Amino acid sequence: MINIKENVLQFEEKFNYSLNKEKLKKTSVQVVAVTKNRSVQLTKELVQEGFYHLAENRPEGLLEKQNELNNQNIIWHFIGNLQTRKVKKIINHIDFLHSLDRLSLAKEINNRAEDRVSCFVQVNVSGEGSKSGVHPEQLEKFILQLSEYPKIHIIGLMTMAPLTDDENAIRNVFSTLKICQRKIAQKKLSYAPCAELSMGMSGDYQIAIEEGATYIRIGSLFFQE
Ligand SMILES: *Cc1c(COP(=O)(O)O)cnc(C)c1O
Repeated sequence: MINIKENVLQFEEKFNYSLNKEKLKKTSVQVVAVTKNRSVQLTKELVQEGFYHLAENRPEGLLEKQNELNNQNIIWHFIGNLQTRKVKKIINHIDFLHSLDRLSLAKEINNRAEDRVSCFVQVNVSGEGSKSGVHPEQLEKFILQLSEYPKIHIIGLMTMAPLTDDENAIRNVFSTLKICQRKIAQKKLSYAPCAELSMGMSGDYQIAIEEGATYIRIGSLFFQE
C-alpha cells in the first residue's frame, strides 16, 4: 500500500529541516512532484496534498495526465529527453521544460511554440557518457547561440547527479552547476536571466538545497510503499 499522506509528511519534515538550516523561506525552493509512470489516482492524491507542480517525462504520459486530471491549477513540467519530432505534441501544453540540450530542439521549439517557453538548459556536469546534457565547457557558446530563437527563455540550468553514495561527488556536481549558472547570469542576457537551478531528486535533494537548488524534482519518495 502506498500512503501518499504519510510519505508527504515524512518528506516535509526533512525538507523543512533543510530550509531552516539554510535559513530559506518555503517559497525559495519549488518542489516539483515527478509523477511519471504513476497512476492518475496516486497523482490526484498528491495534488490533494498541495503539490501543484507536476513533472512527466513522456509526451503521451503528460497528455494523458492532463486529460484525466483536468485541473487548471496544475503547473506542468517536462523532464527528460524530448525527441524533436514530439515537440509539437506538447510544447503548447507545458509551463517548464527542464531538458533543453541541443540547438535542433531549440529550433523546433521556436517553430512550434505559440508563446515564449521557460526552459532549463540541461548540463552534463559529471561528464558521464550515459547522460544527456550540454558539457560545461560548451555551455556558454550554446546559450549565446540560443539568442536566435525568440521563443526560448532560459530561466536556469538543470542537472542530474551521478548515482553514487559518494556525497562529495554529488555535492561537487551541484556546486559546479551553481558556478555555471552565475557565469551565465552575469552576462545579463535578456533571453537568459538564468537565475534558477533545477537539481536534486529523492536521494540527494538535501545536498542540492545546501548547494543552492531553487527547483527540486521529487518522485520515488512520494510513492514508496
Ligand atoms: C525520475 C526523475 C526524477 C525523480 O527521481 P526520484 O529519484 O524518483 O525522485 C527527477 N528528475 C528526472 C529528470 C527524472 O527522470
